[in-house]
Amino acid sequence: MDISTLSNFTMQLKILAIVKHIWQMGPGSDLTVAARGHGHSLQGQSQAHGGIVINMKSLQGLKMQFHIGNLPYVDVSGGELWINILREGLKHGLAPKSWTDYLHLTVGGTLSNAGISGQAFRHGPQISNVHQLEVVTGKGEVVTCSEKQNSDLFHGVLGGLGQFGIITRARISLEPAPEMVKWIRVLYTDFATFTRDQEELTSGESTFDYVEGFVIINRTGLLNNWRSSFNPQDPVQARKFKSDGRTLFCLELAKYFNRDETAVVNREIHSSLSQLNHIPSTLFVSEVPYIEFLDRVHISEIKLRSKGLWEVPHPWLNLLVPRSKIQTFAQQVFGNILTDTSNGPILIYPVNKSKWDNRTSVVTPDEDVFYLVAFLSSAVPSSTGNDGLDHILIQNKRILEFCEIARLGVKQYLPHYSTQGEWKAHFGSRWEVFVRRKSSYDPLAILAPGQRIFQKAVPYSQ
Ligand SMILES: Cc1cc2nc3c(=O)[nH]c(=O)nc-3n(C[C@H](O)[C@H](O)[C@H](O)COP(=O)(O)OP(=O)(O)OC[C@H]3O[C@@H](n4cnc5c(N)ncnc54)[C@H](O)[C@@H]3O)c2cc1C
Repeated sequence: MDISTLSNFTMQLKILAIVKHIWQMGPGSDLTVAARGHGHSLQGQSQAHGGIVINMKSLQGLKMQFHIGNLPYVDVSGGELWINILREGLKHGLAPKSWTDYLHLTVGGTLSNAGISGQAFRHGPQISNVHQLEVVTGKGEVVTCSEKQNSDLFHGVLGGLGQFGIITRARISLEPAPEMVKWIRVLYTDFATFTRDQEELTSGESTFDYVEGFVIINRTGLLNNWRSSFNPQDPVQARKFKSDGRTLFCLELAKYFNRDETAVVNREIHSSLSQLNHIPSTLFVSEVPYIEFLDRVHISEIKLRSKGLWEVPHPWLNLLVPRSKIQTFAQQVFGNILTDTSNGPILIYPVNKSKWDNRTSVVTPDEDVFYLVAFLSSAVPSSTGNDGLDHILIQNKRILEFCEIARLGVKQYLPHYSTQGEWKAHFGSRWEVFVRRKSSYDPLAILAPGQRIFQKAVPYSQ
Protein backbone atom coordinates (compact mmCIF):
# COMPACT_ATOMS: atom_id res chain seq x y z
CA MET A 1 0.00 0.00 0.00
CA ASP A 2 1.45 3.40 -0.94
CA ILE A 3 -0.04 6.25 1.04
CA SER A 4 2.20 8.91 -0.44
CA THR A 5 -0.58 10.87 -2.04
CA LEU A 6 -1.99 12.08 1.26
CA SER A 7 -1.32 15.67 2.31
CA ASN A 8 1.61 16.26 4.66
CA PHE A 9 -0.10 16.95 7.93
CA THR A 10 -2.53 14.12 7.28
CA MET A 11 0.51 11.95 6.53
CA GLN A 12 1.90 12.39 10.02
CA LEU A 13 -1.43 11.48 11.57
CA LYS A 14 -1.81 8.58 9.16
CA ILE A 15 1.55 7.16 10.15
CA LEU A 16 0.41 7.27 13.73
CA ALA A 17 -3.01 5.81 12.90
CA ILE A 18 -1.53 2.96 10.82
CA VAL A 19 0.97 1.87 13.44
CA LYS A 20 -1.57 2.23 16.23
CA HIS A 21 -4.12 0.19 14.32
CA ILE A 22 -1.67 -2.64 13.66
CA TRP A 23 -0.52 -2.54 17.28
CA GLN A 24 -4.14 -2.86 18.42
CA MET A 25 -4.63 -5.86 16.10
CA GLY A 26 -2.18 -7.66 18.37
CA PRO A 27 0.12 -10.61 17.65
CA GLY A 28 -2.56 -12.36 15.59
CA SER A 29 -1.93 -10.10 12.62
CA ASP A 30 1.23 -10.49 10.56
CA LEU A 31 1.08 -6.94 9.13
CA THR A 32 4.30 -4.97 9.38
CA VAL A 33 5.35 -1.39 8.49
CA ALA A 34 8.49 -0.06 6.84
CA ALA A 35 9.39 3.61 6.63
CA ARG A 36 10.95 4.14 3.23
CA GLY A 37 13.26 7.14 3.07
CA HIS A 38 14.83 7.48 -0.36
CA GLY A 39 14.97 3.68 -0.69
CA HIS A 40 18.75 3.72 -1.15
CA SER A 41 19.58 0.90 1.22
CA LEU A 42 20.73 -2.08 -0.77
CA GLN A 43 19.14 -5.21 0.66
CA GLY A 44 15.44 -4.37 0.88
CA GLN A 45 15.80 -2.79 4.33
CA SER A 46 13.05 -0.28 3.57
CA GLN A 47 10.62 -2.95 2.34
CA ALA A 48 7.87 -4.86 4.19
CA HIS A 49 6.89 -8.08 2.46
CA GLY A 50 3.09 -8.23 2.42
CA GLY A 51 2.98 -5.20 4.71
CA ILE A 52 2.80 -1.42 4.48
CA VAL A 53 5.57 0.76 3.07
CA ILE A 54 5.31 4.43 4.02
CA ASN A 55 6.91 6.83 1.58
CA MET A 56 8.56 9.19 4.07
CA LYS A 57 9.34 11.72 1.38
CA SER A 58 5.64 12.60 1.48
CA LEU A 59 6.46 14.39 4.74
CA GLN A 60 9.07 16.52 2.98
CA GLY A 61 6.74 19.47 2.45
CA LEU A 62 6.56 20.08 6.21
CA LYS A 63 8.22 23.45 6.60
CA MET A 64 11.81 23.43 7.82
CA GLN A 65 12.19 25.73 10.80
CA PHE A 66 15.55 27.42 11.23
CA HIS A 67 16.56 28.74 14.64
CA ILE A 68 19.30 31.29 14.34
CA GLY A 69 21.44 32.23 17.32
CA ASN A 70 24.56 31.12 19.15
CA LEU A 71 23.66 27.46 18.75
CA PRO A 72 21.67 27.33 15.52
CA TYR A 73 19.56 24.34 14.56
CA VAL A 74 16.82 23.33 12.16
CA ASP A 75 13.67 21.27 12.69
CA VAL A 76 12.99 19.06 9.68
CA SER A 77 10.76 16.17 8.76
CA GLY A 78 12.18 12.63 8.89
CA GLY A 79 11.54 12.32 5.15
CA GLU A 80 13.54 15.42 4.23
CA LEU A 81 16.49 15.01 1.87
CA TRP A 82 19.82 16.34 3.17
CA ILE A 83 20.34 18.24 -0.10
CA ASN A 84 17.17 20.26 0.61
CA ILE A 85 18.40 21.10 4.12
CA LEU A 86 21.65 22.32 2.59
CA ARG A 87 19.89 24.46 -0.02
CA GLU A 88 17.49 26.02 2.51
CA GLY A 89 20.22 26.43 5.14
CA LEU A 90 22.44 28.37 2.74
CA LYS A 91 19.71 31.00 2.48
CA HIS A 92 20.35 31.62 6.20
CA GLY A 93 24.12 31.21 5.89
CA LEU A 94 23.89 27.94 7.86
CA ALA A 95 24.49 24.24 7.24
CA PRO A 96 24.60 20.94 9.15
CA LYS A 97 28.05 20.02 10.47
CA SER A 98 28.24 16.36 9.55
CA TRP A 99 27.30 14.83 6.21
CA THR A 100 27.24 11.73 4.08
CA ASP A 101 29.13 11.73 0.77
CA TYR A 102 25.81 11.71 -1.09
CA LEU A 103 23.03 14.09 -0.05
CA HIS A 104 20.02 12.62 -1.84
CA LEU A 105 19.21 10.50 1.21
CA THR A 106 16.62 11.21 3.90
CA VAL A 107 17.22 12.35 7.45
CA GLY A 108 15.40 9.28 8.83
CA GLY A 109 17.36 6.93 6.55
CA THR A 110 20.84 8.13 7.54
CA LEU A 111 20.02 8.67 11.23
CA SER A 112 18.85 5.05 11.35
CA ASN A 113 22.43 4.07 10.44
CA ALA A 114 24.94 6.76 11.52
CA GLY A 115 25.72 9.07 8.59
CA ILE A 116 29.49 9.07 8.13
CA SER A 117 31.66 11.25 5.93
CA GLY A 118 34.94 13.18 5.99
CA GLN A 119 33.68 15.60 8.67
CA ALA A 120 33.08 12.77 11.18
CA PHE A 121 36.59 12.96 12.66
CA ARG A 122 35.73 16.44 13.95
CA HIS A 123 31.98 16.42 14.53
CA GLY A 124 31.20 12.73 14.83
CA PRO A 125 28.66 11.06 12.53
CA GLN A 126 25.29 12.68 11.80
CA ILE A 127 23.77 10.88 14.80
CA SER A 128 26.12 12.89 17.05
CA ASN A 129 24.63 16.12 15.71
CA VAL A 130 20.95 15.70 16.55
CA HIS A 131 19.32 17.49 19.49
CA GLN A 132 15.82 16.04 19.43
CA LEU A 133 13.58 13.59 17.60
CA GLU A 134 9.86 13.06 17.24
CA VAL A 135 9.16 9.36 16.87
CA VAL A 136 6.13 7.12 16.30
CA THR A 137 6.89 3.94 18.26
CA GLY A 138 5.73 0.44 17.38
CA LYS A 139 3.02 0.87 20.02
CA GLY A 140 1.46 3.70 18.05
CA GLU A 141 2.60 6.49 20.38
CA VAL A 142 4.14 9.81 19.36
CA VAL A 143 7.12 10.52 21.60
CA THR A 144 9.44 13.53 21.65
CA CYS A 145 12.87 12.46 22.79
CA SER A 146 16.30 13.97 23.39
CA GLU A 147 19.37 13.62 25.67
CA LYS A 148 17.20 14.76 28.56
CA GLN A 149 13.71 13.58 27.66
CA ASN A 150 12.96 9.90 26.96
CA SER A 151 16.68 9.50 26.42
CA ASP A 152 16.62 5.70 26.10
CA LEU A 153 14.35 5.94 23.04
CA PHE A 154 16.42 8.86 21.66
CA HIS A 155 19.66 6.90 21.83
CA GLY A 156 17.97 3.70 20.68
CA VAL A 157 16.56 5.27 17.52
CA LEU A 158 19.91 6.82 16.52
CA GLY A 159 21.64 4.08 14.54
CA GLY A 160 18.68 1.84 15.46
CA LEU A 161 18.02 0.52 11.92
CA GLY A 162 14.39 1.67 12.18
CA GLN A 163 13.65 -0.89 14.91
CA PHE A 164 12.20 1.29 17.65
CA GLY A 165 10.21 3.98 15.93
CA ILE A 166 9.58 6.00 12.81
CA ILE A 167 11.37 9.35 12.90
CA THR A 168 8.84 11.96 11.84
CA ARG A 169 10.87 15.02 12.89
CA ALA A 170 14.47 15.77 13.79
CA ARG A 171 16.28 18.78 15.24
CA ILE A 172 19.68 19.05 13.56
CA SER A 173 22.60 21.12 14.83
CA LEU A 174 23.95 23.76 12.39
CA GLU A 175 27.06 25.88 11.91
CA PRO A 176 27.87 28.91 9.73
CA ALA A 177 28.23 27.76 6.12
CA PRO A 178 31.42 28.70 4.27
CA GLU A 179 31.31 30.05 0.72
CA MET A 180 34.08 28.01 -0.82
CA VAL A 181 36.12 24.83 -0.44
CA LYS A 182 39.72 24.05 -1.28
CA TRP A 183 39.53 20.45 -2.38
CA ILE A 184 42.87 18.69 -2.28
CA ARG A 185 44.19 15.29 -3.29
CA VAL A 186 47.66 13.84 -2.80
CA LEU A 187 48.95 10.34 -3.55
CA TYR A 188 50.98 7.78 -1.63
CA THR A 189 52.46 4.43 -2.60
CA ASP A 190 53.08 3.31 0.97
CA PHE A 191 49.99 2.42 3.00
CA ALA A 192 51.63 2.91 6.40
CA THR A 193 52.74 6.44 5.47
CA PHE A 194 49.27 7.22 4.07
CA THR A 195 47.47 6.12 7.24
CA ARG A 196 50.02 7.84 9.50
CA ASP A 197 49.29 11.13 7.74
CA GLN A 198 45.53 10.49 7.87
CA GLU A 199 45.69 9.80 11.60
CA GLU A 200 47.83 12.86 12.23
CA LEU A 201 45.35 15.02 10.33
CA THR A 202 42.34 13.65 12.21
CA SER A 203 43.79 13.88 15.72
CA GLY A 204 43.83 17.12 17.66
CA GLU A 205 43.37 20.48 15.98
CA SER A 206 43.29 19.90 12.25
CA THR A 207 43.64 22.60 9.60
CA PHE A 208 41.25 20.67 7.41
CA ASP A 209 37.47 20.33 7.69
CA TYR A 210 37.17 17.05 5.83
CA VAL A 211 39.54 14.08 5.61
CA GLU A 212 38.88 10.99 3.52
CA GLY A 213 40.94 8.77 1.26
CA PHE A 214 40.66 6.04 -1.31
CA VAL A 215 42.55 3.11 -2.76
CA ILE A 216 43.48 2.78 -6.42
CA ILE A 217 44.48 -0.66 -7.71
CA ASN A 218 45.09 -1.13 -11.47
CA ARG A 219 42.61 1.60 -12.10
CA THR A 220 40.52 1.86 -15.26
CA GLY A 221 37.01 2.95 -16.23
CA LEU A 222 34.43 5.61 -15.52
CA LEU A 223 33.15 4.06 -12.30
CA ASN A 224 36.37 4.99 -10.59
CA ASN A 225 35.82 8.57 -11.60
CA TRP A 226 32.42 8.76 -9.95
CA ARG A 227 33.74 11.85 -8.21
CA SER A 228 35.02 13.11 -11.52
CA SER A 229 33.62 16.53 -10.69
CA PHE A 230 37.01 16.95 -9.03
CA ASN A 231 38.82 19.27 -11.36
CA PRO A 232 42.46 19.87 -10.41
CA GLN A 233 43.83 23.33 -11.09
CA ASP A 234 47.24 22.00 -11.94
CA PRO A 235 47.00 19.61 -14.90
CA VAL A 236 50.75 19.90 -15.57
CA GLN A 237 51.51 18.30 -12.22
CA ALA A 238 48.80 15.73 -12.83
CA ARG A 239 50.37 14.71 -16.13
CA LYS A 240 53.84 14.34 -14.63
CA PHE A 241 52.87 11.47 -12.36
CA LYS A 242 52.73 7.88 -13.67
CA SER A 243 51.43 5.15 -11.41
CA ASP A 244 53.10 2.26 -13.30
CA GLY A 245 50.47 -0.17 -12.12
CA ARG A 246 51.26 0.34 -8.43
CA THR A 247 48.58 0.37 -5.78
CA LEU A 248 48.06 3.98 -4.81
CA PHE A 249 46.45 5.58 -1.81
CA CYS A 250 44.83 8.94 -2.34
CA LEU A 251 44.38 11.29 0.60
CA GLU A 252 41.44 13.63 0.04
CA LEU A 253 41.19 16.83 2.08
CA ALA A 254 38.96 19.86 2.15
CA LYS A 255 39.33 23.24 3.75
CA TYR A 256 36.31 25.52 4.02
CA PHE A 257 36.77 29.28 3.63
CA ASN A 258 35.15 32.56 2.73
CA ARG A 259 36.52 34.53 -0.19
CA ASP A 260 37.95 37.30 1.98
CA GLU A 261 40.09 34.75 3.85
CA THR A 262 41.80 33.29 0.78
CA ALA A 263 45.32 34.51 1.52
CA VAL A 264 45.34 33.28 5.14
CA VAL A 265 43.80 29.96 4.18
CA ASN A 266 46.37 29.40 1.42
CA ARG A 267 49.17 29.93 3.93
CA GLU A 268 47.58 27.54 6.45
CA ILE A 269 47.10 24.86 3.80
CA HIS A 270 50.63 25.27 2.52
CA SER A 271 52.01 24.87 6.02
CA SER A 272 49.89 21.77 6.79
CA LEU A 273 50.67 20.10 3.48
CA SER A 274 54.40 20.64 3.99
CA GLN A 275 54.18 18.32 7.00
CA LEU A 276 52.73 15.45 4.98
CA ASN A 277 54.72 12.67 3.36
CA HIS A 278 52.90 12.22 0.05
CA ILE A 279 54.60 11.96 -3.34
CA PRO A 280 55.52 15.62 -3.90
CA SER A 281 54.53 15.78 -7.58
CA THR A 282 51.00 14.55 -6.81
CA LEU A 283 49.41 17.59 -5.23
CA PHE A 284 46.10 18.30 -6.96
CA VAL A 285 44.11 21.32 -5.80
CA SER A 286 40.66 22.41 -6.86
CA GLU A 287 38.52 25.30 -5.60
CA VAL A 288 34.74 24.93 -5.69
CA PRO A 289 31.64 26.45 -4.06
CA TYR A 290 30.66 24.69 -0.83
CA ILE A 291 27.42 23.26 -2.26
CA GLU A 292 29.27 21.83 -5.25
CA PHE A 293 31.75 20.08 -2.98
CA LEU A 294 29.05 18.56 -0.76
CA ASP A 295 26.84 17.54 -3.69
CA ARG A 296 29.77 16.04 -5.63
CA VAL A 297 28.46 12.48 -5.84
CA HIS A 298 25.20 13.69 -7.36
CA ILE A 299 27.16 15.34 -10.18
CA SER A 300 28.71 11.95 -10.84
CA GLU A 301 25.30 10.28 -10.51
CA ILE A 302 24.03 12.41 -13.40
CA LYS A 303 26.98 11.31 -15.55
CA LEU A 304 26.57 7.64 -14.64
CA ARG A 305 22.80 7.78 -15.25
CA SER A 306 23.36 9.22 -18.72
CA LYS A 307 25.52 6.17 -19.51
CA GLY A 308 23.10 3.67 -17.95
CA LEU A 309 25.61 2.91 -15.19
CA TRP A 310 23.61 4.05 -12.13
CA GLU A 311 20.62 1.67 -12.05
CA VAL A 312 22.77 -1.45 -11.67
CA PRO A 313 23.26 -3.79 -8.70
CA HIS A 314 25.46 -2.30 -5.96
CA PRO A 315 26.82 -5.12 -3.81
CA TRP A 316 28.47 -2.70 -1.39
CA LEU A 317 30.40 -3.75 1.67
CA ASN A 318 31.09 -1.22 4.42
CA LEU A 319 33.39 -2.13 7.29
CA LEU A 320 34.61 -0.44 10.45
CA VAL A 321 38.16 -1.68 11.07
CA PRO A 322 40.04 -1.07 14.35
CA ARG A 323 43.13 1.10 13.93
CA SER A 324 45.47 -1.58 15.32
CA LYS A 325 44.37 -3.99 12.57
CA ILE A 326 44.26 -1.70 9.55
CA GLN A 327 47.74 -2.63 8.28
CA THR A 328 46.97 -6.37 8.45
CA PHE A 329 43.65 -5.73 6.77
CA ALA A 330 45.23 -3.69 3.95
CA GLN A 331 48.03 -6.15 3.34
CA GLN A 332 45.62 -9.01 2.72
CA VAL A 333 42.71 -7.18 1.10
CA PHE A 334 44.43 -4.61 -1.13
CA GLY A 335 47.49 -6.74 -1.74
CA ASN A 336 45.86 -10.11 -2.26
CA ILE A 337 42.06 -10.46 -2.35
CA LEU A 338 41.46 -7.50 -4.67
CA THR A 339 43.38 -7.26 -7.91
CA ASP A 340 41.80 -4.06 -9.18
CA THR A 341 39.34 -1.34 -8.24
CA SER A 342 37.63 -1.09 -11.61
CA ASN A 343 34.23 -2.05 -10.09
CA GLY A 344 34.09 1.18 -8.13
CA PRO A 345 35.85 3.19 -5.45
CA ILE A 346 37.18 1.91 -2.14
CA LEU A 347 37.05 4.63 0.49
CA ILE A 348 39.21 4.48 3.59
CA TYR A 349 39.57 7.00 6.40
CA PRO A 350 39.86 7.08 10.19
CA VAL A 351 37.34 8.45 12.69
CA ASN A 352 37.61 9.08 16.42
CA LYS A 353 35.36 7.16 18.76
CA SER A 354 35.36 10.07 21.22
CA LYS A 355 32.96 11.81 18.80
CA TRP A 356 30.50 8.90 18.88
CA ASP A 357 27.99 8.40 21.66
CA ASN A 358 28.13 4.81 22.89
CA ARG A 359 24.53 5.00 24.16
CA THR A 360 23.23 5.00 20.58
CA SER A 361 22.42 1.71 18.82
CA VAL A 362 25.24 1.83 16.29
CA VAL A 363 27.95 -0.78 16.81
CA THR A 364 31.61 0.18 16.39
CA PRO A 365 34.93 -1.59 17.07
CA ASP A 366 36.43 -1.48 20.57
CA GLU A 367 39.17 1.05 19.85
CA ASP A 368 39.54 4.81 20.13
CA VAL A 369 40.25 5.15 16.42
CA PHE A 370 38.74 3.01 13.69
CA TYR A 371 38.62 3.17 9.91
CA LEU A 372 35.61 3.24 7.63
CA VAL A 373 36.48 1.05 4.64
CA ALA A 374 33.77 1.21 1.99
CA PHE A 375 33.87 -1.11 -1.04
CA LEU A 376 31.44 0.71 -3.33
CA SER A 377 31.18 -1.77 -6.20
CA SER A 378 28.80 -1.59 -9.15
CA ALA A 379 27.92 -4.70 -11.15
CA VAL A 380 27.88 -3.36 -14.70
CA PRO A 381 26.73 -5.56 -17.59
CA SER A 382 29.57 -6.25 -20.04
CA SER A 383 29.36 -7.08 -23.75
CA THR A 384 29.13 -10.78 -22.75
CA GLY A 385 26.03 -10.01 -20.64
CA ASN A 386 27.92 -10.89 -17.46
CA ASP A 387 27.63 -8.13 -14.86
CA GLY A 388 30.32 -9.55 -12.58
CA LEU A 389 27.89 -9.57 -9.65
CA ASP A 390 28.86 -13.08 -8.55
CA HIS A 391 32.52 -12.19 -8.72
CA ILE A 392 32.00 -9.11 -6.50
CA LEU A 393 29.89 -11.09 -4.02
CA ILE A 394 32.60 -13.74 -3.79
CA GLN A 395 35.21 -11.05 -3.17
CA ASN A 396 33.06 -9.52 -0.43
CA LYS A 397 32.67 -12.95 1.14
CA ARG A 398 36.42 -13.53 1.04
CA ILE A 399 37.04 -10.18 2.74
CA LEU A 400 34.54 -10.99 5.49
CA GLU A 401 35.97 -14.48 5.94
CA PHE A 402 39.47 -13.08 6.24
CA CYS A 403 38.31 -10.59 8.91
CA GLU A 404 36.65 -13.43 10.80
CA ILE A 405 39.58 -15.86 10.61
CA ALA A 406 42.17 -13.20 11.47
CA ARG A 407 39.91 -11.98 14.33
CA LEU A 408 40.27 -8.36 13.35
CA GLY A 409 37.33 -7.16 15.45
CA VAL A 410 35.73 -5.60 12.37
CA LYS A 411 32.10 -4.44 12.46
CA GLN A 412 29.86 -4.01 9.45
CA TYR A 413 28.46 -0.53 8.81
CA LEU A 414 25.03 -0.53 7.07
CA PRO A 415 24.96 -4.12 8.33
CA HIS A 416 23.16 -6.89 6.53
CA TYR A 417 22.61 -10.39 7.96
CA SER A 418 20.14 -13.20 7.36
CA THR A 419 19.89 -14.89 10.75
CA GLN A 420 19.30 -13.65 14.28
CA GLY A 421 22.46 -15.49 15.35
CA GLU A 422 24.50 -13.29 13.02
CA TRP A 423 22.80 -10.16 14.35
CA LYS A 424 23.53 -11.30 17.89
CA ALA A 425 27.21 -11.66 16.99
CA HIS A 426 27.17 -8.24 15.31
CA PHE A 427 25.80 -6.52 18.41
CA GLY A 428 27.93 -8.59 20.82
CA SER A 429 27.52 -7.33 24.37
CA ARG A 430 25.05 -4.68 23.12
CA TRP A 431 22.51 -7.26 21.92
CA GLU A 432 20.74 -7.39 25.28
CA VAL A 433 20.12 -3.63 25.25
CA PHE A 434 18.94 -3.81 21.64
CA VAL A 435 16.46 -6.58 22.50
CA ARG A 436 15.30 -4.75 25.62
CA ARG A 437 14.65 -1.63 23.57
CA LYS A 438 12.77 -3.66 20.98
CA SER A 439 10.49 -5.12 23.63
CA SER A 440 9.93 -1.65 25.12
CA TYR A 441 9.18 0.29 21.93
CA ASP A 442 8.08 -2.26 19.32
CA PRO A 443 7.21 -5.44 21.20
CA LEU A 444 5.21 -6.93 18.31
CA ALA A 445 8.10 -6.33 15.85
CA ILE A 446 5.91 -4.28 13.54
CA LEU A 447 8.64 -1.89 12.35
CA ALA A 448 11.38 -2.19 9.69
CA PRO A 449 11.04 -5.94 9.00
CA GLY A 450 13.35 -5.55 5.98
CA GLN A 451 16.35 -5.40 8.31
CA ARG A 452 15.60 -9.07 9.14
CA ILE A 453 16.56 -8.72 12.79
CA PHE A 454 13.24 -9.62 14.41
CA GLN A 455 10.28 -11.45 12.97
CA LYS A 456 6.74 -10.63 13.94
CA ALA A 457 5.32 -13.19 16.39
CA VAL A 458 8.67 -14.94 16.85
CA PRO A 459 9.96 -14.45 20.43
CA TYR A 460 13.32 -12.70 20.79
CA SER A 461 16.21 -14.78 22.01
CA GLN A 462 18.60 -13.28 24.55
C1 LIG B 1 25.26 6.86 -3.50
C2 LIG B 1 25.19 6.60 -2.02
C3 LIG B 1 26.18 7.14 -1.21
C4 LIG B 1 26.14 6.91 0.17
N1 LIG B 1 27.10 7.48 0.95
C5 LIG B 1 27.06 7.32 2.28
C6 LIG B 1 28.01 7.96 3.11
O1 LIG B 1 28.90 8.67 2.65
N2 LIG B 1 27.91 7.77 4.45
C7 LIG B 1 26.92 7.02 5.02
O2 LIG B 1 26.87 6.94 6.24
N3 LIG B 1 26.02 6.38 4.24
C8 LIG B 1 26.07 6.52 2.91
N4 LIG B 1 25.14 5.88 2.12
C9 LIG B 1 24.24 4.91 2.74
C10 LIG B 1 22.96 5.57 3.26
O3 LIG B 1 23.25 6.40 4.37
C11 LIG B 1 21.95 4.51 3.74
O4 LIG B 1 21.72 3.55 2.76
C12 LIG B 1 20.63 5.19 4.13
O5 LIG B 1 19.83 4.27 4.83
C13 LIG B 1 19.88 5.61 2.89
O6 LIG B 1 18.91 6.56 3.23
P1 LIG B 1 17.46 6.42 2.60
O7 LIG B 1 16.77 7.69 2.91
O8 LIG B 1 17.52 5.99 1.20
O9 LIG B 1 16.90 5.25 3.55
P2 LIG B 1 16.09 3.92 3.16
O10 LIG B 1 16.95 3.04 2.34
O11 LIG B 1 14.78 4.28 2.59
O12 LIG B 1 15.89 3.28 4.62
C14 LIG B 1 16.97 2.69 5.32
C15 LIG B 1 16.45 2.09 6.63
O13 LIG B 1 16.03 3.13 7.49
C16 LIG B 1 14.65 2.98 7.80
N5 LIG B 1 14.06 4.32 7.76
C17 LIG B 1 13.96 5.15 6.70
N6 LIG B 1 13.38 6.31 7.07
C18 LIG B 1 13.10 6.18 8.38
C19 LIG B 1 12.50 7.03 9.36
N7 LIG B 1 12.05 8.24 9.05
N8 LIG B 1 12.37 6.57 10.63
C20 LIG B 1 12.83 5.36 10.97
N9 LIG B 1 13.40 4.52 10.10
C21 LIG B 1 13.54 4.92 8.83
C22 LIG B 1 14.07 2.08 6.72
O14 LIG B 1 12.94 1.38 7.16
C23 LIG B 1 15.25 1.16 6.43
O15 LIG B 1 15.28 0.14 7.39
C24 LIG B 1 25.13 6.09 0.74
C25 LIG B 1 24.14 5.54 -0.09
C26 LIG B 1 24.17 5.81 -1.45
C27 LIG B 1 23.10 5.21 -2.31
